[in-house]
Amino acid sequence: MAQKVKILAVDDVPSNLFILRIFLKNIDAEIVEASSGQEALKAIRKHDFAVAILDVNMPEMDGYELARRIRSQRRCEDLPIIFLSAVYSDNYHIFKGYNAGAVDFLAKPFMPEALTGKILFFIKIYNQQLKLKEIIKELKRTKALVMEQNKVLEELASQDMLTGLYNRRQLAKVLRREADRCRKDGGDLSLLIFDLDHFKQVNDTYGHDFGDYVIKEFAARILSCISDSDFAFRFGGEEFIVLLPQTDLRGAVATAEKIRRLCEEKLFQSLPHAISMTVSVGVASYRDDPPRRQRDMIRHADTALYHAKHNGKNRVSVYSGSAPEASFAI
Ligand code: GH3
Ligand code: MG
Ligand code: MG
Repeated sequence: MAQKVKILAVDDVPSNLFILRIFLKNIDAEIVEASSGQEALKAIRKHDFAVAILDVNMPEMDGYELARRIRSQRRCEDLPIIFLSAVYSDNYHIFKGYNAGAVDFLAKPFMPEALTGKILFFIKIYNQQLKLKEIIKELKRTKALVMEQNKVLEELASQDMLTGLYNRRQLAKVLRREADRCRKDGGDLSLLIFDLDHFKQVNDTYGHDFGDYVIKEFAARILSCISDSDFAFRFGGEEFIVLLPQTDLRGAVATAEKIRRLCEEKLFQSLPHAISMTVSVGVASYRDDPPRRQRDMIRHADTALYHAKHNGKNRVSVYSGSAPEASFAI
């Protein structure tokens, strides 16, 4: 059940509080009474109020001081305060009341309808604010959910479905970022391109599903040979790219060789069909100044790959110039 809204009524004279209670009996709200400023502040700490009705003339802490203290609390910044005063209802005191944070001023004696009308209006605003807060909370929850889902979608959109490696779309992004970083901070950047040898035969002999299995297995073995700061991509069917930031030519060739050997030696011994599988690798490595066009980096590594294939496959070739002859096998 929804909680009743609460009204704070503050007056040092019990009979005044009694009269207030009678005036407000038709309003569906819980009246919390306080007979002094201190008591009122205590109640403010304990409850959330829709509106506060304060007597101006009270000993120790008068209504003005109480209103100022209420207003100084952040959660009560917007609490509507109605001043009731029998003695000080001239303009000077009314403005003093507004300055202390009152939103309304009623001179005693007043018509009960004048008070209940104002209170009903403030309760309406209070309820609308509560609803608004709920809506904002819900919106924040929805926003957090959407952001979480977007992250998952983004990850999925950057992944190759078969292998779980990054896909070609992500390659463009990472390549640009790492090349920019290399140009800005200096250092090395190396790119390896892999192409499984005679892969068509695997498909033809054992079927496409088995071919998929080989591709997945090879991807897993690539990951086992690189570090967390390196990136592996499925570039196409049985072609893969590995990007090695902060890695020079020597390091790049070592990683390429490690993956090539793993493929040749034991990569596919454990598969349902114990097949021998080899891979050719092209390496391109840059110090401080990788090409401005990303596709040139891939083209360079591809030139070396072409050289590796041309020279008998199952080998690593390094790009060292624009002509294919400029590549050399390790
Ligand atoms: P080479 O030694 O010169 O690289 O010859 P290859 O047979 O490996 O190369 P080729 O490019 O002629 O054939 C690649 C084959 O890869 C052809 C295609 O059917 C197969 N392929 C491409 N994508 C997939 C895939 O997702 N799954 C499977 N199972 N096969 C694929
Ligand atoms: Mg190919
Ligand atoms: Mg191939």
